[in-house]
Amino acid sequence: MRTAQAVPSQTLFQAIGWIACLAVATFTVSCTRENHHEILGAGGLDGNTTTTPQTPATLMTNPYNELTPEEAYVIEDKGTEARNVGEYTDTKDLGTYLCRRCNAKLYVSKQKFASNCGWPSFDDAIADAVRQEPDADGRRTEILCAHCDGHLGHVFLGEGYTEKNTRHCVNSLSMRFYPEGEQLPPIGWLRAPKR
Ligand SMILES: [Zn+2]
Repeated sequence: MRTAQAVPSQTLFQAIGWIACLAVATFTVSCTRENHHEILGAGGLDGNTTTTPQTPATLMTNPYNELTPEEAYVIEDKGTEARNVGEYTDTKDLGTYLCRRCNAKLYVSKQKFASNCGWPSFDDAIADAVRQEPDADGRRTEILCAHCDGHLGHVFLGEGYTEKNTRHCVNSLSMRFYPEGEQLPPIGWLRAPKR
């Protein structure tokens, strides 16, 4: 009988041990994540990322891409690229268009069509990649990268270009094209500094 009673006690003891181990492990992982973000955040904001070790974890959480003044004018200040001069206005190659600031996937080539409006045009976007909001001009609808809020351009409805009756009019400077088969860069997670 004494042996029979000892078995449940031992099982209980083991269970408590496992719970304690689990709690310690969760706490450790949580702390490590906090520190990791703090280190990356500080490095990204100062523009000094050289001290961040290039482990697979950091590659998955790289900061946003540095922008040229022309790119910043469009993406951060909601500027518009001149008509017919954009790098991707007439691009017909198969591939994916990424946000030039954060590398989030925005459009695929099969969504692109020739509108002859002078800017790259798409009749749809990758699901949940692009968000819309009323433009400050009170007339148009602005489109933004859903991941980093970078300005992309405007969306127009009811023009009859394609069956979807939608035209995402996008600045080439807001996107980076990756031909089919080329490896895509990891998505940046840092929030852009407030301007
Ligand atoms: Zn973005």
